[in-house]
Amino acid sequence: MRTTISKQFRWEMGHRLPLHKGLCRNIHGHSYEAHVILSGELDEQGMVMDYFDMKMLIQSKVDELDHAFLCDASDAVVLDFLKEHSLKHVIVNFPTTAENIAHMLCEHVVSKLPHGHRLDTVKIRVFETEKTYAEVEQSI
Ligand SMILES: [Zn+2]
Repeated sequence: MRTTISKQFRWEMGHRLPLHKGLCRNIHGHSYEAHVILSGELDEQGMVMDYFDMKMLIQSKVDELDHAFLCDASDAVVLDFLKEHSLKHVIVNFPTTAENIAHMLCEHVVSKLPHGHRLDTVKIRVFETEKTYAEVEQSI
């Protein structure tokens, strides 16, 4: 029977949206939360996936992002500052919206799936605040 499991991850991260017309163009941060949601058939142990193995799909990425500044490669103003002062940062080639962060995490999780998994869908929800989230779903 097709079943869904979910695990939550949290990290603190700075960012800004340089092209935004409002407050989001300023340097600020969020207490991000991501839900990794996996669906598929149960294995012989009655699991979609062991929660420990699920954690291993994404924990290294969460650690990379935690207390970093997620910087759009086109944002030269901030990127130069981060490099000059050796501040923790991760450079990406997209505007650092929750939508794009969800895409990035979904691609990461799909790339880390073990051989022989029985999943049919990977879904990622990224919360920037407790009231707003972006969701990406990929069939595999
Ligand atoms: Zn923001």
